Amino acid sequence: KVENSGNSYGFYQSSMNEDVAVRVEMERHLRSALQNNELYLHYQPIFGSDDRRLLGAEVLVRWRSEELGFVGPDNFIPLAEQTGLIVEIGHWILKTACTQGRKWLDEGLKDFYLAVNISPRQLRHQDFIYLLKSVLDETGFPAQALVLELTEGLLVKKDSGTAQVLDDLKALGVMLSMDDFGTGYSSLAYLKMFPFDVIKIDRSFVRDLAVDASDQQLIVAAIEMAKALGLKVVAEGVETAQQLHFLRDAGCYSVQGYYLSKPIDPMLFSERIVEKELA
Ligand code: C2E
Ligand code: CA
Ligand code: CA
Ligand code: CA
Repeated sequence: KVENSGNSYGFYQSSMNEDVAVRVEMERHLRSALQNNELYLHYQPIFGSDDRRLLGAEVLVRWRSEELGFVGPDNFIPLAEQTGLIVEIGHWILKTACTQGRKWLDEGLKDFYLAVNISPRQLRHQDFIYLLKSVLDETGFPAQALVLELTEGLLVKKDSGTAQVLDDLKALGVMLSMDDFGTGYSSLAYLKMFPFDVIKIDRSFVRDLAVDASDQQLIVAAIEMAKALGLKVVAEGVETAQQLHFLRDAGCYSVQGYYLSKPIDPMLFSERIVEKELA
């Protein structure tokens, strides 16, 4: 290991090297995470804002590494994206989620959808549509009950390829949701350009609703615009009754957040959410 020279430049250098070392280490472990069964999925229910009926669930991946302990998706998804591992991991997520979703439909859930996050590199992979089709075929999960959550990052590259893929996905019957709505520069332009069905208002706007009038106005405007365009609206990060009531009164159709339920494992989801819905 390089000795720290004591000046700030030397310190900077050595901490940069450590960052690289941590990354390399993480990448090494991430490569074997799938084979070692270290990845698993949590499901966070999405409810109607007025009657609190179950509408769907967002699928969120988790990694408990043998060597590194628990690593959050905000840390390893970007790495999976950079290394291309996201293609394999993303396919596993889709297959696992659709298998679980099929079980819940078979247990009697009606009008229930799964929302799966798709990384840019995963979506741009040439086999994505083919792989998605085979997952739907193999699991029997209906395309109409699948929502793909996409971030603006994907759309920045203004290639015609993206537009084609999104059209093909629509033709398959899946729904498209613009995730983290309001955080990017060009959300509005992209809504016009691409065939989205849903916007998901980012939780940064929901967080300060009680104290920030401009966040309130932004949410009201986003909901009105969505209605004008015939889009559904989901608000994420709802942590208080007050936030829920504001969103409901503003006409936001569906809500998701710790106030209603944290993301939970499929067994808990069956016990707490599915059984209650079927009772
Ligand atoms: P996201 O898509 O914006 O997901 C919402 C995040 O908000 C999740 O964090 C969720 O646990 C968290 N959350 C939900 N309700 C609340 C709340 O009331 N309060 C607060 N403070 N947070 C709430 P998580 O699971 O850590 O995921 C972080 C990000 O990692 C996701 O952001 C998404 O970008 C990415 N991610 C997670 N799972 C997947 C996946 O399966 N595939 C891909 N490509 N990305 C994923
Ligand atoms: Ca999401
Ligand atoms: Ca978000
Ligand atoms: Ca996000």
